[in-house]
Amino acid sequence: MLEKKMEEFDGTKVIQEFEAVTKEAGKVQIETLRKILEENAGAEYLQKLGLDGRTDVESFKSCVPLVTHKDLEPYIQRIADGDKSAVLTGKPITAISLSSGTTQGKPKFVPFNEELLRSTMQIYRTSFAFRNRDFPIGKGKALQFIYSGRLFKTGGGLAASTATTSIFRSELFKNTMKDIQSQCVSPEEVIFGPDFHQSLYCHLLCGLIYREDVQFVSSTFAHSIVCAFRTFELVWEEICTDIREGVLNSNVTTPSIRSAMSKILKPNPELADSIYRKCSGLTNWYGLIPELWPNAKYVYGIMTGSMLPYLKKLRHYAGSLPLLSSDYGSSEGWIGANVNPTLPPELVTYAVFPDIGYFEFIPLRETFEEQQLEKTASTVLYMESEPVGLTEVKVGEEYEIIVTNFAGLYRYRLGDVVKVMGFHNSTPELQFVCRRSLLLTINIDKNTEKDLQLAVEAAMKLLAEEKIEVIDYTSHVDMTSDPGHYVIYWELSEEANDAVLSDCCNCLDRSFVDAGYVSSRKVKAIGALELRLIRRGTFQKILDHYLGLGGAVGQFKTPRCIGASNSGVLQILSNSVVKSYFSTVFG
Ligand code: AMP
Repeated sequence: MLEKKMEEFDGTKVIQEFEAVTKEAGKVQIETLRKILEENAGAEYLQKLGLDGRTDVESFKSCVPLVTHKDLEPYIQRIADGDKSAVLTGKPITAISLSSGTTQGKPKFVPFNEELLRSTMQIYRTSFAFRNRDFPIGKGKALQFIYSGRLFKTGGGLAASTATTSIFRSELFKNTMKDIQSQCVSPEEVIFGPDFHQSLYCHLLCGLIYREDVQFVSSTFAHSIVCAFRTFELVWEEICTDIREGVLNSNVTTPSIRSAMSKILKPNPELADSIYRKCSGLTNWYGLIPELWPNAKYVYGIMTGSMLPYLKKLRHYAGSLPLLSSDYGSSEGWIGANVNPTLPPELVTYAVFPDIGYFEFIPLRETFEEQQLEKTASTVLYMESEPVGLTEVKVGEEYEIIVTNFAGLYRYRLGDVVKVMGFHNSTPELQFVCRRSLLLTINIDKNTEKDLQLAVEAAMKLLAEEKIEVIDYTSHVDMTSDPGHYVIYWELSEEANDAVLSDCCNCLDRSFVDAGYVSSRKVKAIGALELRLIRRGTFQKILDHYLGLGGAVGQFKTPRCIGASNSGVLQILSNSVVKSYFSTVFG
């Protein structure tokens, strides 16, 4: 059935369907849970928990515990090892996804099935319907920086790859992309090429050959778009030469890519001259996208959460074009779509789909606890209460999201913190806040990915005056010193002088305003913050490291805090340090 050609796309109808399910979100949730539990009543996991075929919310909540990936790992491993019995699902799982694993340092296995594929298409179609209502595109294609990850077999012979790879390979995806006028300009050989650098080069080349057709520029996560155009700045002249002569650069060595590209690439000196002129006329590459793709209507990809730091550069390349953030999901399944595409990425929310899973939310309230270290100091800790249902969440509150889906995850803690900003009919609109586990913490201090981002943004302003950019950043808690201290790693676009960098380091230290941090710094229970500068290209090495572990570029999110156990990345960082500065704030 999945292979069947889909009906003609009708945006109005898709929006109506979404309106209908979100008006009845509460009811639809109960019905979705019933379906999940009915389909999987025979699963060993649910049977062991004594659910005994019951499908109501109360029985579900009383029998099934909240779990993390670690709790399910033994079950998933059995599936990966070839156990074909009904372990987590009624129908056996036939494929495994590798999550990007940037948080833990190594990819995690999660079950993948056709139901996840189907809901992915539902999300794509719905968000396209809303997007196209506000930003209609014409007939054409998309310059999509999408890549396949490695495909392999688990010990038990199941197909394993990143979720995006399984999706891109499916016929359903290809048909859906045709339906929603979003086909990639590049041939499949480029998308599925074995080497990311070669694929990226050819995506850029195809984008320019078909520049008049390109209706929008996209990638799964915005990082890939910025990475693509940073590369373009370096290789644009080579690309012009290829177009002028109709001969593909010899650095592209993959035979399948060379053969596919030879059908597309013909000598075109006029096009090469025109691109050359346009690129030469740009000031510091501002407005590169609309200049080279005159029919592009917008730039599209996930731009929230850990992607926010790339917005500045993306806006620079996009010039006058709007930036539209795409949807919210994970290898474990989708959660919501951006149905208000006119909002700038900083304000984007995701409306939850009540029919793709059963969602619960653990309220996270910040509690201010008295500290032993200093009477007046306090720290922010999350106090958890009982999870609430989808329609019971409150505007303005933060929650950790819990997923139950059609692919064998029951009451699964996704690890993301979201904030409810409003409702679309009766389904909540969530703002992505951060990953819960990404914290800089030494004792009573707690800083999230967001806190780190704000500190880096503040310090970056000092560099902006010098016209220097922070290409990317990450952090680490160094406990080898006594007391432990925060380390922030920066890769810069060019060298900066010591005085400015010392100021940046002090600014970073001052910008962590969490009371636990400030009080610990004052009494020296946390040492001076250290800013370590790393060589150009280090973040590229980190990306390559994750690709080597089986990750896909498209799902890559720069890890913003490197744990002590992530020795691979720590090693890359420590080998790349060129200079370091210690804060002098707090004496
Ligand atoms: P992965 O582990 O590769 O499946 O990535 C899934 C994770 O990416 C989610 O749990 C989120 O932390 C993050 N993510 C996915 N979509 C978004 C989004 N729209 N905004 C911010 N973060 C997102």
